[in-house]
Amino acid sequence: MFSQRIARAAASGTQRITAEVDRLRRQGVDIVDLGAGEPDFATPPHVKAAAVAAIDEGFTRYTPNAGVRELREAICRRYLDDYGVAFEVDQVIATAGGKQALFNAAMALFDAGDEVITHAPGWPSIVEQVKLAGAFPVAVRTHPEDGFRLHADAVLEAFTPRTRAVVVNSPGNPTGALVAERDLARIAGKAAEHGAWVVLDLCYEQLIYDDAPHNLPRVLLEHLPDRFVVSGSLSKDHAMTGWRCGWAIGPPAFIRACNTVQGHATSNVASITQRAAIEALTGPQDCVAEMREAYRERRDLLLRLLGAEPRIRCVQPGGAFYLFPDVSELLSPDGLRTSADFAQALLRDGRVAVTPGEAFDAPGFVRLSYAASREQLEEAARRLHAFIAALDRA
Ligand code: GLU
Repeated sequence: MFSQRIARAAASGTQRITAEVDRLRRQGVDIVDLGAGEPDFATPPHVKAAAVAAIDEGFTRYTPNAGVRELREAICRRYLDDYGVAFEVDQVIATAGGKQALFNAAMALFDAGDEVITHAPGWPSIVEQVKLAGAFPVAVRTHPEDGFRLHADAVLEAFTPRTRAVVVNSPGNPTGALVAERDLARIAGKAAEHGAWVVLDLCYEQLIYDDAPHNLPRVLLEHLPDRFVVSGSLSKDHAMTGWRCGWAIGPPAFIRACNTVQGHATSNVASITQRAAIEALTGPQDCVAEMREAYRERRDLLLRLLGAEPRIRCVQPGGAFYLFPDVSELLSPDGLRTSADFAQALLRDGRVAVTPGEAFDAPGFVRLSYAASREQLEEAARRLHAFIAALDRA
């Protein structure tokens, strides 16, 4: 009935939880939602004011497909300030969230028969975009024993003559793991020899808690100046998920290819959002530091709260806003058999939403977002522990 492309791809497992929570809440069920990967903070007031001004001034028409020049300059400026790397405006396209940046890249770069290496556990859209482009995703597994580190050796071993690209997400969703500069350097070096691309998803780049070197844009520029893509977003660090603003940065010819894709899909990011984005990028940044500090405290709080249950084994993440514990010790053949069953029962009986590891190609785990208030995290933990106690009694 539908295209083969659709038959190959799966719906977003992360968005499914958001829809399910919405459905239950509409029925009046009181849910603590640690499912969605979405800040609970309001968009900063100065950013909202810029959008209101845009509407009032009538800045409500089409803009250039890649975004207004001021926005693309502001994106370049951010990378110059944060990483000391100088990008030009013709190396940037503004997109409807980081997701469209990655989608454009998949459409612009991958063909049927190509292999695209990525890492698992990982964000589902990366894999599904590869499939929608007709290519094959090849997952390199990372493990909790060493903090879900992506080892360059494992990626290098996955290269074949069909490898077209490596997609790396750091800090990673759902693990929060950071890719080490030296690992990325080796991956980029191999890609350079091989004629492959490296696509780097930096959507959580401002939410890093460890003091680890993370100048990944510079690493790519040094090792792979002609075939790199850096994508980013304002969704997470400026609490702007609904505004839909991200970007892709890459060689000018790649940006032209993205322009072709986007020009036939959505055209420009909403003009009003673009004005808000310019303010977010160029205005005061203390709001980002405050949110980062709050996330760090929440991470530590939730780790402590989960620590009360020794059968939940959890790595301390270096970035993003998720915990990704292994709950397999709580599963059993005659009870909850899978982490998907666990998440389903926790939602139904415990009224806590989490995302099952299956969504990230990691059965046995669940993802808890700590982009929630302290009270919500405490309540979630209370409900989770009560749920587990009831499982033990059953
Ligand atoms: N990226 C967020 C998450 O992982 C939002 C949902 C999505 O777009 O996948 O929950």
